[in-house]
Amino acid sequence: MTELERIRHSCAHVLATAILKIWPDAQFAAGPPVENGFYYDVELPHRISPEDFERIEAEMKKETKANHVFERIEVSRDEAIAMAKDGTLAALGARPEPSKFKLDIVERIPDGEVITLYRNGDFTDLCAGPHVMRTGNIGAFKLTHVASAYYKGDENNPQLQRIYGTAFKNKTAMDEYFAMLEEAKKRDHRKIGQEMGLFAMDAEYVGPGLPLWLPKGTAIVEELEKLAKETEFAAGYVRVRTPHLAREKMYQTSGHLPYYEESMFPPMELKSEDEGPTCERYYLKAMNCPHHHRIFAAEPHSYRDLPLRLAEYGCCYRYEQSGELFGLMRVRSLNMNDAHIYCTEEQFAEEFRAVNEMYLKYFAIFGLGKYQMRFSTHDPAKLGQKFVDEPELWKKTEDMVRQVLVESGINFVEVPNEAAFYGPKIDVQVWSAIGREFTIATNQVDFAVPSKFGLVYRDRDNQEKTPLCIHRAPLGTHERFIGFLIEHYAGNFPLWLAPDQVRVITIGNEDALIDYAKAIHRELRTHEVRADLDLGTDPMKAKIADAEKSKVHTMLVIGARDLDAGNVSLRVHGKGNLGAKPRAEAIAEIITSIRERQA
Ligand SMILES: [Zn+2]
Ligand SMILES: [Zn+2]
Repeated sequence: MTELERIRHSCAHVLATAILKIWPDAQFAAGPPVENGFYYDVELPHRISPEDFERIEAEMKKETKANHVFERIEVSRDEAIAMAKDGTLAALGARPEPSKFKLDIVERIPDGEVITLYRNGDFTDLCAGPHVMRTGNIGAFKLTHVASAYYKGDENNPQLQRIYGTAFKNKTAMDEYFAMLEEAKKRDHRKIGQEMGLFAMDAEYVGPGLPLWLPKGTAIVEELEKLAKETEFAAGYVRVRTPHLAREKMYQTSGHLPYYEESMFPPMELKSEDEGPTCERYYLKAMNCPHHHRIFAAEPHSYRDLPLRLAEYGCCYRYEQSGELFGLMRVRSLNMNDAHIYCTEEQFAEEFRAVNEMYLKYFAIFGLGKYQMRFSTHDPAKLGQKFVDEPELWKKTEDMVRQVLVESGINFVEVPNEAAFYGPKIDVQVWSAIGREFTIATNQVDFAVPSKFGLVYRDRDNQEKTPLCIHRAPLGTHERFIGFLIEHYAGNFPLWLAPDQVRVITIGNEDALIDYAKAIHRELRTHEVRADLDLGTDPMKAKIADAEKSKVHTMLVIGARDLDAGNVSLRVHGKGNLGAKPRAEAIAEIITSIRERQA
């Protein structure tokens, strides 16, 4: 448990204490820390509602103020069972009814395991810990909501009330968290996406979780692809294109079937084109890797061809449960910034370093100052079960990865025992402008799959060898990444990404003025600037308000005086009026800002 998780879990004990002070017959089940907080499940005739929170929090406050020690007490199984029967577990003292859920939990603790109780003030609970030292170490807390949950998640068990709360080291940290949540609500990508006309969901005709990219969203998609293509070209990648489906054999070989069948769309069954009754199955691809492996296999390779870096913005389909679908963040069709790098063991460290540098380059472009890489490694005790049995290769690649991370000064944490089956992996977490955490992408090494597909290259010694494969997708999928960017920028994209880059706005309707505006508009379009033209007769204020509302990045406002001087008056969304500038200068600046992808 992290320190914050200890604070939160300890706060669950304080919550139970407070509830018992008000309702002494409450029966508690489990109270673990969860993402962003904690909960405690309670059975109680009174239905707890948010109106009760103030009263409960006031009791909790007394407990934290009293600064009770969390005292650890070891007991025998018989003692624990006796206490549960007396109703004293998760209670303030003996009660007429037994502590029934705690009794059930004690009885299920395996023989030989140490049983511990924790006491804070009058409250004693059955718990393995750990906790903070004293209730006063819980700096700030707040109850957030109530839900219902079955005991142990089984609908045949009693239904309990699940009281959620959160806790922090101090009040400042808690205030920052709630301010971030407020801001995140305003930046909700579903809301902004609809207001800006970026994407649409059409569950009735297209299907749930299958987003349609509208013209403005497509502008962003294409800018990202352009960025990826330029970056990958410079880094020596080659591009490939693959179909969206493949035969069953492909996914049996890759191991997707039967293990991940649930997350794939069901197969399409075709009558075999050959004679006979056999039926062929095709699946929509859930990943691009197998297709890329078959591209590698399509031609013979020598060591001189390596590293071979195959890149594709590949479209994959995953059958997420409908309850799991969420805006652009959880969808059923995903366009992935995918590439597979086939290399020798000697080339691996350098390739891996280059991939990391690419991540950092992207972070700089998007202004993501805070990031962390989670380096998941294997556990030697689980070779051959949880991890492919290649002890040498594991050690060697993990050492290389670690060395590259340290040498590049990358902020990373190492997490043992969480690697993928077929090799070590790195998950990349970033924090948006408002401090919201987001897992952006994975960078993975693969020892196992290339050999399953029989991939080989002929080495210097004329022997056939299996290459290593690096899977990487620094920009993740368009869906998740753009969902993230919408919230990161609150829809106020930098000029290069903005769906509406420039609007030329006229004040007045003289022919010369209109011609001047049209010429500027035409010039911008020649340079592939997404510019439009507002020649309408509305007053200037209304035209600007309209452009601001649609988040048009740059407005070139043209009146009679601008025409005479060969100027434009520049306005930038969110920044206001930046004054008049010669036409050529303003256009040159726009083009440079886009080309350099300025923030
Ligand atoms: Zn506990
Ligand atoms: Zn892959």
